[in-house]
Amino acid sequence: MTTYWAAHAWLPDGLADDVRLTETAGRFTAVTVGARAEEGDHRLPGVVLPGFANTHSHAFHRALRGRTHDRGGTFWTWREQMYALAATLTPDAYLDLARATYAEMVLAGVTAVGEFHYLHHAAGGTPYDDPNVMAEALRTAARDAGLRITLLDTAYLTGGIDAPLQGPQLRFGDHDADAWAARVAAIRPDDTLTVGAAIHSVRAVPLDDLPTIAAHATGRPLHVHLSEQRLENEQALGTFGASPTRVLADAGALGPATTTVHAVHVTPEDVATLGSTRTGVCLCPSTEQDLGDGIAPAAALHAAGARLAVGSDQHVRTDLLAEAGSVELHERLAGETRGVLTPRDLMTLLTAGGHTCLGDPTGGRLAPGAPADLVAVRTDTPRTAGADPAQLVLVAGSADVDTVVVGGVVRVEGGRHVLGDVGAMLGAAIRAAWETTR
Ligand SMILES: [Zn+2]
Repeated sequence: MTTYWAAHAWLPDGLADDVRLTETAGRFTAVTVGARAEEGDHRLPGVVLPGFANTHSHAFHRALRGRTHDRGGTFWTWREQMYALAATLTPDAYLDLARATYAEMVLAGVTAVGEFHYLHHAAGGTPYDDPNVMAEALRTAARDAGLRITLLDTAYLTGGIDAPLQGPQLRFGDHDADAWAARVAAIRPDDTLTVGAAIHSVRAVPLDDLPTIAAHATGRPLHVHLSEQRLENEQALGTFGASPTRVLADAGALGPATTTVHAVHVTPEDVATLGSTRTGVCLCPSTEQDLGDGIAPAAALHAAGARLAVGSDQHVRTDLLAEAGSVELHERLAGETRGVLTPRDLMTLLTAGGHTCLGDPTGGRLAPGAPADLVAVRTDTPRTAGADPAQLVLVAGSADVDTVVVGGVVRVEGGRHVLGDVGAMLGAAIRAAWETTR
């Protein structure tokens, strides 16, 4: 048993003062407000928040950070650079890159990641001896870095609507939806790994296979990229006569266990559908900025009843506080007004909302019965000094994270990860990843 004490903590009802959190066997067993710090308490600095959920990640995209800005282009030209990297990554290189990427996430306060995993097979699409060796690399990486992982194993069956997989895409593909389901069935969940499912997009899974995948995902999280780019909408309308949202709804792929990712180019009808089905929507503001995707109608989705979450996606930035704050800042730019989503709304999408999307409705809360995950954010740094602790989500960033505890185990203390120099880990892993592409 461990007891933590904080001057301020973000509880389900909002900010509370003088809080003692008691942890037993990886879960909170008591939360007491107005408690005096006692000898033996682990005293935490600043404001203690629930663990953050990074609801949408492609770990290997971290190797693209800061290497794509000299070429201009579009989402589609950026994708060519991503494919060049995907063409040659080995399981060992993938493990090292994912471990370092996840360690950076934990430094930023992430205690659970949703890994949208489609880099499955060897070059040309040949399965490895263990057809899930790449998924196992992600399991090991998450365990080493010390965060929970929901493995969203992704069905990626076509290179575009009615187009075969080509080149590096062959590594992503299983023969058909049944082959995908058989491979995924062999991945075993454990204490910190949840097996979920994903449909890459309506571009990458044939219409007839969508119900098979949705049925296979019953009882687990199902994620899907949705309307990140206008071209996807145009192709869906041209081929199916319906928006991607409508295509997914008709296939039975929307609902409370489903999370759509991006939802940038959605119509008012799509927003109503996502809301009425209580589907989740994961926004990835830094990716949507970086790739020039556009701005998702977050406030309209929220008002319609969709559950919001955030993800760092391609990791142009690994700062989930900034991702959450950017949801509101995008609303201000798009609507020319302030305060559309409250700091409390933003805290919810960063924590409980995201964890629910990852399949754990008890996660992301400082409450008895919840996993003992917490993040202490300093309030005395040059960035945070003087701010109202209740508005920290719009002020603080990953550099202000002091302590991260996952399942009762301290993974970050004093702003340092227990694994050591994460910058050095990332540098070595990224050099090695690009080395193999020469
Ligand atoms: Zn993505």
